[in-house]
Amino acid sequence: MKKRGLVWFKNDLRLLDNEALSKAYKECDDLIFCYCYEKEWYRRGELGFQNIDAVRFKFLQQSILNLKNNLEEIGGHLIIGAISAVDTLPALIAEYGVTDVYAEEEYASYEVSLVNKVIDASADAKFHFFWGKTLYHKDDIPFKISKIPLTSKAYRIPAGREAEPREILDKPIKLKSALGAKSSKNPSYRNFGFTKQEYESCHPLVKGGEAEALERLEYYTFKSELLTGYRWSRNQSDGLDYSSKFSPYLALGCISARAIYDQVKAYEAKIKKNQSTLWLVFELVWRDYFTFKAMRFGNLIFRSVGYKNKKIDWENNPEKFKRWCQGTTGIPFVDAHMRQLNQTGYMSNRGRVNCASYLVHDLKIDWTWGASYFESKLIDYDVSSNWMNWHMQAFEIWYTNPVHQSNKYKAQDFIRKWIPELSDLSNREVLIPWEFKVAKYPDPIEVYKKWSRAISLIKTNTV
Ligand code: FAD
Repeated sequence: MKKRGLVWFKNDLRLLDNEALSKAYKECDDLIFCYCYEKEWYRRGELGFQNIDAVRFKFLQQSILNLKNNLEEIGGHLIIGAISAVDTLPALIAEYGVTDVYAEEEYASYEVSLVNKVIDASADAKFHFFWGKTLYHKDDIPFKISKIPLTSKAYRIPAGREAEPREILDKPIKLKSALGAKSSKNPSYRNFGFTKQEYESCHPLVKGGEAEALERLEYYTFKSELLTGYRWSRNQSDGLDYSSKFSPYLALGCISARAIYDQVKAYEAKIKKNQSTLWLVFELVWRDYFTFKAMRFGNLIFRSVGYKNKKIDWENNPEKFKRWCQGTTGIPFVDAHMRQLNQTGYMSNRGRVNCASYLVHDLKIDWTWGASYFESKLIDYDVSSNWMNWHMQAFEIWYTNPVHQSNKYKAQDFIRKWIPELSDLSNREVLIPWEFKVAKYPDPIEVYKKWSRAISLIKTNTV
């Protein structure tokens, strides 16, 4: 019997190292390809903002467009659904007589339930799922998911010793498209409730798509050799070069963690092996750890009491939350990062740690509000990386003092860039403007006593 395959792209928007695509390519006589937007994911939540905001949408749109172009170059096409996979896939399966569906395996509850609904509505096709998200395949790590350790170290050391990333899979050379299948257009921002102004005023920090991801990988490694200094530059906030910026591409699967790993190994062999190359791999292993840990705890990671069931008495002042979201708290280090997030969909790790700590420990606002806001905005939003990092900030990590950190990391230029009201201030004034009565920039929500030492140190700064 003739095998007609459907490759269902989700968060694996790439041709290289995509097991679902490779298997479908090898096993089927001809193929159709599909991506479906989930319109429901763009609705406004209880906190008043859309679950996926315009900047995230724009980055996704760019990534899908690139996938479509890449498929077309080798004889494929991409059918794009604008409402839901539950509507589009069963209809396509019936229309084209699809016998087999190939897709990446999901693990988060919402996505798993979506996949199950599609399977239930598509009785005639056989579904095949492939694990593709992590550096180490989930079947190769030395732990059952139910026994993933509670500390990263207890995971990292045995995983690094006993697991090896699997070989990456080549991209298909020439696709055999099912007769009559045609690519569709990316739907407009209007379908998802965005205004022209909202859509046009946001600028994802990097452009989406597999081509851009591979170019970035080449740039960060062999072209610029920035990787050699990564260990020492990674804590900065401003610009494209202090860290890899692989996260947006990993989040949508425009690149696989294994492809990055292979490039790092090639770099170590040809250019340099040092603490930086080891550290980048270490970060990818963190990402794996959070994925597996999120799988272990399931929906418990989304609760305000966390998976540890620890109750905290939040104050949850809506006005303070609004000021945090808008970047108008009056604390320049926090505001600059929040404004950068709002416009570009990206924030450095240093910024994320500080903004999360300030929200949770100073403003005493429920960490799940902050995690939801990040979910709405981040172009690198990833269920497990976002919610597990927030969980850690709320329950496990020491307080981070944003005034001290702005001085330690010499954030003056970064602040002047993102807060134009402060652009004329001196290096001292720009970190603690409330001490110098600056017009046009809000007074801080509160200046805490615990910041006194950091404030006096800045006042005595000589630069
Ligand atoms: P690099 O420093 O170049 O690191 C390389 C890669 O390692 C990253 O692309 C990422 O995939 C991985 N990585 C690095 N740090 C972490 C980490 N702490 N946790 C998990 N993976 C890591 N990362 C996301 O990818 N998506 C998120 O939704 C997300 N939300 C976060 C929320 C909070 C509150 C915090 C504190 C961190 C969050 N992170 C998230 C982790 C981290 O901030 C970003 O991965 C990193 O800033 C991305 O920039 P980069 O690619 O240049 O990172």
